[in-house]
Amino acid sequence: MKTLRQLSLIIFAGASLNACANASYEDGETSTIFAERWNAGINNNEPPLQMQSYDANTFVIRQSLKTNFEAPFMYLLFGTEKALLIDTGAGGIDLRAFIDAQITAREKENGKPIALTVMHSHAHGDHVAADDQFQDRPNTKVVGKEPEAIAAFFGVGSWPKDIGQYDLGNRTVDIIPTPGHQDSHVMVFDRDTRLLFSGDVIYPGRLYFRCNNVQEYKASIDRVADFAATRNISWVMGAHIELSQTPGKSYNSGDSKRSNERLIELPSSVITQVQAGTNKMLSLPRVEVYDNFTLFPIPENPQGKTPPDWCAN
Ligand SMILES: [Zn+2]
Repeated sequence: MKTLRQLSLIIFAGASLNACANASYEDGETSTIFAERWNAGINNNEPPLQMQSYDANTFVIRQSLKTNFEAPFMYLLFGTEKALLIDTGAGGIDLRAFIDAQITAREKENGKPIALTVMHSHAHGDHVAADDQFQDRPNTKVVGKEPEAIAAFFGVGSWPKDIGQYDLGNRTVDIIPTPGHQDSHVMVFDRDTRLLFSGDVIYPGRLYFRCNNVQEYKASIDRVADFAATRNISWVMGAHIELSQTPGKSYNSGDSKRSNERLIELPSSVITQVQAGTNKMLSLPRVEVYDNFTLFPIPENPQGKTPPDWCAN
């Protein structure tokens, strides 16, 4: 079955929606946390994976648009005992060798082995495709993709309302269940960097959920907003970029090059913006474009219907 993302991208390739708010981006928005721009298919020779460090123990990896139109982001966090890989990408790449090289280098530096835990923001195909490459890796645990398996592994008492924890060795992350886009979606908060890894629930792009899942999506956003209120989150780091710096412009699956992409990092204020947007949708979900994201509810059967008001009836 196609994912919500794929479905919508197929239906709306080429469609554009007008922004409902005035954006004030300047050309060449530059990151204050990454040295390079993320590869976006501009250079024909770009490597299958691009990695940049956030700090000495935190790495951000992007799968090339040349290998898959989803061009998903993955995150690799090191504690003193364990490494945590969030997501395995959209497939067609040797992620195992890439991650092995990072861990081996770290093991040499530390003079002791580091265990690897592979988890997922959620179970859609563009985030789990290289799981098989890690199943037989020594000293490695691949966390299951069902809510029950995730809750058991991370000690989430009552899914989805409770929050789990995981210790990487002098570094603890919180696991926040956030179903709505997909049943087993979680966000990961790193207490060290105060980064919130937000998967496909919040990112600079189309935030997909079924029209009839709006309550569940909203409950997840409320849970995250409550959590964020006391955490002083540094940045919200999602799993895709689908927005251009040109206000109102989104990329679609047919774009083999994406010039002038937005940054992957979003300020923590985006959480309350998404919350305010979903609050407005409780009575009737509709597609709405905001500066940093588009709320994109999709009907169970979208054929023959057109956004933004296609959740009606
Ligand atoms: Zn997804």
